[in-house]
Amino acid sequence: MFRSLTIEDCLSLNREDLAAESAKEIEKMEPVLKSFITVCKDHEFRSGEFAGIPIAVKDNITTKGVKTTCASKILENYVPPYNATVVEKLLLHGFTVVGKTNLDEFAMGSSTERSAFFPTRNPWDPTRVPGGSSGGSAAAVAGGEVVAALGSDTGGSVRQPASLCGVVGFKPTYGLVSRYGLIAFASSLDQIGPITKSVRDAAILMSVISGKDAMDSTTVDKNIDFLKDMENGISGMKFAVPKEVYDYEQLDSGVAVLFDEALKLAEKLGAKIRKVRIPSMKYAVAVYYVIAPAEASSNLARYDGVKYGLRVEEKGLKDMYKRTRREGFGEEVRRRIMLGTFTLSAAYYEAYFNKAQKVRRVLSSELDSVLTENDAILTPTSPITAFKLGEVKDPLTYYLMDIFTAPANLAGLPAISVPYGFSNDLPVGLQIMSRRFHDAKVLRIARSFEKNSPYNSNGRIRLPVVKA
Ligand code: GLN
Repeated sequence: MFRSLTIEDCLSLNREDLAAESAKEIEKMEPVLKSFITVCKDHEFRSGEFAGIPIAVKDNITTKGVKTTCASKILENYVPPYNATVVEKLLLHGFTVVGKTNLDEFAMGSSTERSAFFPTRNPWDPTRVPGGSSGGSAAAVAGGEVVAALGSDTGGSVRQPASLCGVVGFKPTYGLVSRYGLIAFASSLDQIGPITKSVRDAAILMSVISGKDAMDSTTVDKNIDFLKDMENGISGMKFAVPKEVYDYEQLDSGVAVLFDEALKLAEKLGAKIRKVRIPSMKYAVAVYYVIAPAEASSNLARYDGVKYGLRVEEKGLKDMYKRTRREGFGEEVRRRIMLGTFTLSAAYYEAYFNKAQKVRRVLSSELDSVLTENDAILTPTSPITAFKLGEVKDPLTYYLMDIFTAPANLAGLPAISVPYGFSNDLPVGLQIMSRRFHDAKVLRIARSFEKNSPYNSNGRIRLPVVKA
């Protein structure tokens, strides 16, 4: 019962026991799933519209008095003295934060295998990854440990794990949600977003966490009604489908079949599908993996053994820095710091970083022009379904998985992953992307797929039966 509850379901229930029920599920499921780095024990019941509803928060979002590790050794014992703005907002509305979820170290990855502590497992098949980097949040929601969760999305980290775990994941327009207290990875790309069991819940969480924040100068003052027109369907809408989706060689055939089915459903519901070309889409991964590591190398410079977290003692100051960073950061984080430092160096800045910024602008304007003529762009969220733990070894293979999700971050657009069917019993997600600040439209379109998908019953997504 508790396992399948949405935020909306909870509204008509007695809330007093919900956190205890969540705690029971967590205790039962954690040996299998390992979604959490920290489980919070003593919760205070707070009043508010969402009083007592248990929610999980990715462990790169600060929580006052509760360890926030980024799944990194360098922050293993870091206890922040402040709450992130999104956490403050959750608490203000009555939510109970029941724990901090696992991620790829500093949100760099697509499988949650790169957590410095342990990998999380996919509730649909615990021998497989939940996706990443917000894999802990997605597994906790799909596995019924919590009602909903927050993740962060820099190149797909909310949408891709949502897709691989068969739940809803929404990346808002850049600037709608404050990043104050989100430990920075790549500042021009990072956004916090909800992972939920329904599209309506994603909209509800957006109304709670969005808004201008004096502590984050990139936030904007927009009053969006995320639930407005939610049930109005997609009749008369125009959807663009990039031909580049079909050019992509690694596209799983099961994913391709379901994607085409989803397009047929859209037509049945009165929408028009138009195939378009977005020529720069094929550069999205290359551009992302120049820009994201460059920004990361700068953001991660602050971990030096002096100000935060781990310090490995060495005689000289420089050697202390070196040893602290070598031992504190995992392999993937070190790779990105080196990549970023290289592309930002005087000799290569023009050839790599500046070039990437230019291509980013071209891609962004290609997307904008498609979106002025169409209501949304549809693609699969991920070219593949959940893979086995340890199966993918080569970093490049991981990077290429971001092909469909990275464009929304590079252009600051809102994008959602909504479950659409199963390939070999593993969930597949459909991605819907639209213009900046058309977040309500993205949610409305997603709701229409959710409501009418033949893989859902009564418009509700299917959840896995996990054997504890
Ligand atoms: N997979 C991408 C990466 O490794 C995206 C990560 C994210 O969105 N945080 O950078």
